[in-house]
This record gives sequence, C-alpha cells and structure tokens, in this order.
Amino acid sequence: MKLKNKVAIVTGASKGIGASIARYYGAAGAKVVVNYATSKEGADKVVKAITDNGGTAIAVQGDVSKEADINRLFAATQEAFGGLDILVNNAGIYEYLPIEQVSAESFHQQFNINVLGPILAIQAALKLFGDKGGNIINISSAASKFAMATGSVYSASKAALDTITVALSKELGVKNVRINSLLPGSVETEGTHTTGVMGSEFEKQLIANTPLGRIGQPEDIAKVAVFLASDDSAWMTGELITASGGIYGF
Ligand code: NAP
Repeated sequence: MKLKNKVAIVTGASKGIGASIARYYGAAGAKVVVNYATSKEGADKVVKAITDNGGTAIAVQGDVSKEADINRLFAATQEAFGGLDILVNNAGIYEYLPIEQVSAESFHQQFNINVLGPILAIQAALKLFGDKGGNIINISSAASKFAMATGSVYSASKAALDTITVALSKELGVKNVRINSLLPGSVETEGTHTTGVMGSEFEKQLIANTPLGRIGQPEDIAKVAVFLASDDSAWMTGELITASGGIYGF
C-alpha cells in the first residue's frame, strides 16, 4: 500500500499502459481518477477492476489537449477526492510517417496531445497540489533517446516532454513537486496492435534487439510508475528513466 490515501490522476487510462498504471495505483492504495478521451467502456472497466479489488476510482472524460476539458477533469478530481497528490501524463498518440508524408495536421495532433496536454495538466495540477507539493510522472518513450526512421515527429514530441521534465524539476523543486519522465520501450497495448506494430517484421526486429528478448507488457511500466509515485523515489526528480528490456536502438 505504498500510495495509501494518495489521490492520482492518470490521463489516457482507458487502455494500454495508462490502464495498467491506474490498476497498479489502485492496488497500492491510491484513489484513482481514470481519464479517457473516447473509450468510456474501457475506462469503466478499469474503474470496476480497481473497485472490485477493494480500491477507489472514478472515470472522467476529457481531451488533454483542450483547456476546458482539463479544467473539468481537475474540478471533478477536487470534488470527488478533495485534492491531488500524483499526476501521470500518460495520454499520448504515435504516428510513424516518412518525412514526405508528415502533414501540419499530424504534427499538431501529436504535439497537442503529447506536449501541450501535459503542460495544461501540470498547470492545473499545481493548483490542486497546494503547499504540500506533489508528484508528476511524464510517460515519454525510449524513442525520445533513440529516434527511429519514420518517427521524427513522435520522437520530437517525446524529446520535448523530457526537456519539460528537466526544466520543471528545477522550477518546481522549491514547491516540493517532483517530476520525472518514464521512457517505455515497445509495449504490447491496444495502440501498438492498432498501429500494426504487433505481429509485424518491425516487432521481430524490436525483440531481436532487446537484451531481455521480448516486447514489454503494460505491467512492466506500471511497476516503475508505482516506484516513481511513491516515497521510495523521494530523492529523485528531473530523471529520465528508461524501462525497455535493455533495447537501445538499432
Ligand atoms: P494506447 O493503447 O493507444 O492508449 C492510449 C490512451 O490514451 C487511451 O486511453 C486513449 O483514450 C488516451 N488518449 C488518446 N488521446 C487522448 C486525448 N487527447 N486525451 C485524453 N486521452 C487520450 O496507448 P499506449 O500504447 O498505452 O501508450 C500510452 C503512452 O505510452 C503514450 O504516451 C505513448 O506515447 C507511450 N508509449 C507507448 C509505447 C508502446 O509501445 N505502447 C512505447 C513508449 C511510449 P481513449 O481510448 O479513451 O480515446
């Protein structure tokens, strides 16, 4: 129960890595706000899994790239749980395109959700953290450090997020706010199935280049996210933590 009575928002928690983090936080004793954009059914399932396990959770819809939705998400958190201790900026999208096919629309969509979203959420979180401070975990990607072909915009968005982590660790330490980036390698999620990574030649290459010899599972990331949210990491801020089975590009 390392997060007993802490209040946590996990953005994009209706599926994949975010859903697993929400479940692990619930099992660790946190009161969890399960944010989603479109998948109410997925978010309700995550809430049910947490409450069936004796935990506390609510689902709140909101597109993280829209300021009005962020305000609604944080107001709902305040109303349900009276404050906030942990923010996990997990909501994110990835699109792999050769540079010739990158459109302004695709650029803005990835940057709006992967970069602007966390900025808006952090601004709102600071108001709820108050004087006691808080803890922010940005779900980045190993792709921020080893950019791969066709991932120029996605990798750039996650590199921007990492830079925000480092800058804000210096800005927010005085407010007793910790902020770290967690960089997953490839993880089997609804997203990596939809985008065709799973079952592809690319997946085989990923596994061949991963020292631990497999694709990650959401739980591999969720366990590290519990560590970063708990007092076990109390002396860590501004860190970029990779959890990737050891893969370092290819
Ligand atoms: P996923 O399976 O595609 O799930 C994405 C989640 O984000 C869903 O819950 C989705 O909500 C939510 N979401 C998308 N746009 C949103 C928005 N505008 N506002 C609020 N929520 C939004 O994704 P995933 O693979 O678990 O990835 C999660 C995070 O990990 C992302 O930041 C991704 O970049 C990062 N990551 C993933 C991998 C990987 O291999 N899977 C590797 C490195 C980093 P709805 O379903 O309700 O629309």
